[in-house]
Amino acid sequence: MLGKDATNKVDMHSLKHKVAIIGLDSAPPELVFDRWIDSLPNIKRLISSGIYGTLESTIPAITCPAWASMVTSTNPGKLGIYGFRNRSHYNYDSLEFVDSNTMNEETIWCLLSRHGKKCIVIGVPLTYPPKPFNNGYLVTCFLTPNKNCQYTYPDNLKHEVERVTGGYIMDVSNFRSDEKDQILHTTFEMTKKRFKLARHFLRNEDWDFFMMVEMGTDRIQHAFWEFFDPRHPSYIAGNKYEHAIFDYYRYVDDEIGRILMQLDDNTTVLLVSDHGAKMMEGGICINEWLINNGYLKLTHYPDKITQISKDLIDWEKTMVWGEGGYYGRLFFNIKGREPRGTIPPQQYEIVRNELKFALEGLRDKHGTKINTKVFKPNEIYSECRNIPPDLLVYYGNLSWRSVGSVGHATIWTDKNDTGPDSANHDQHGIFVMSNGNKHRSEKRSNLHIMDITPTVLDLMQIQIPWYMEGDVIR
Ligand SMILES: [Zn+2]
Repeated sequence: MLGKDATNKVDMHSLKHKVAIIGLDSAPPELVFDRWIDSLPNIKRLISSGIYGTLESTIPAITCPAWASMVTSTNPGKLGIYGFRNRSHYNYDSLEFVDSNTMNEETIWCLLSRHGKKCIVIGVPLTYPPKPFNNGYLVTCFLTPNKNCQYTYPDNLKHEVERVTGGYIMDVSNFRSDEKDQILHTTFEMTKKRFKLARHFLRNEDWDFFMMVEMGTDRIQHAFWEFFDPRHPSYIAGNKYEHAIFDYYRYVDDEIGRILMQLDDNTTVLLVSDHGAKMMEGGICINEWLINNGYLKLTHYPDKITQISKDLIDWEKTMVWGEGGYYGRLFFNIKGREPRGTIPPQQYEIVRNELKFALEGLRDKHGTKINTKVFKPNEIYSECRNIPPDLLVYYGNLSWRSVGSVGHATIWTDKNDTGPDSANHDQHGIFVMSNGNKHRSEKRSNLHIMDITPTVLDLMQIQIPWYMEGDVIR
């Protein structure tokens, strides 16, 4: 069944219209559009010849599911992906990592290749393990376990990737550490290799759709935010890394310029990010809060900071437990659903409302309300496949991280419990769409991450499947 907004326009598009998407994970509009645009000439040129604006991410505004929602135009609930890790059973086992097999929906490159379009895909999150498609090449993402794994489609493409890049780098391992020089070096190296590979494909292959995602923008922000933001308590003016993020963005802009030089006038370029980023104000130790408020009981309270685990929880006396991460997830212990459930099913909504009300009133240690937002999955998604959290929480509207460990003896912390990290995600990323000099610069509002796929299909004159949730950006 086909329908929504199919277009027959042929006037401004040639028969061989191409689309190139450059993705910068976590690039925030406040830095790219507002603060540094005059130092980013190539991005500035795209903006001055196109449409741009902030791009609203999914809830949660997390790499997984955000990119998956972008390339399928499907909400996280329908995808059944609520973060990097999902609950796989209603028992008390740890969460399990998601991968490309978690996703049933067709990606934009699979759809385009069914229509005879040749696609090149590099580094789009949630593409490991690589799934075959009709026509094109794919290099998987930062979630690839290691380079011994099969990380390309087709299989033998891997040799070409290694040869061209002199050793491809998937991700900056250990980007939450104090090894700042090493993180900086690896981030630049990784980015250089990825853009080199992209240029190699663009130059040597006949293609219709190209998409790459660079993770370095996300990694460098998490590792270096405190060094450049004067609002951060650890910031010291004139420190060695003060310009690390800025220098990196200038470098990325340069690489984008080299990509643009390889594109012809029949190519529409999209520059997008999956979410934004902002300073992390601190962490809410959610399990400490749940203990203090009578929802969670431990078998014994640890004398040092300890990750929460099923053996540490006294399940017979526990109603709710939480997970750490950029955003918070709460899981309820329901009678008949969990093995040792305590909340009668008829009380479920009452407890959810009670917690939503209490958490939305959360304050910092000085007594100031932090503007926490609590979401019920069934209210924000059209359906909830797999096992959604019972509540999703943006502490301080994402200015505060969720800390899952216990033993802090307080509900507030300044530090992340999984390693140094001074940035958190933000709800809006960037969107730029440029078609040479055919548009005037125009700022748009109300753009959503699920609009990307319908927009590309419209540009390529392919009918938009009925189930897609986004709108065409023209
Ligand atoms: Zn991301």
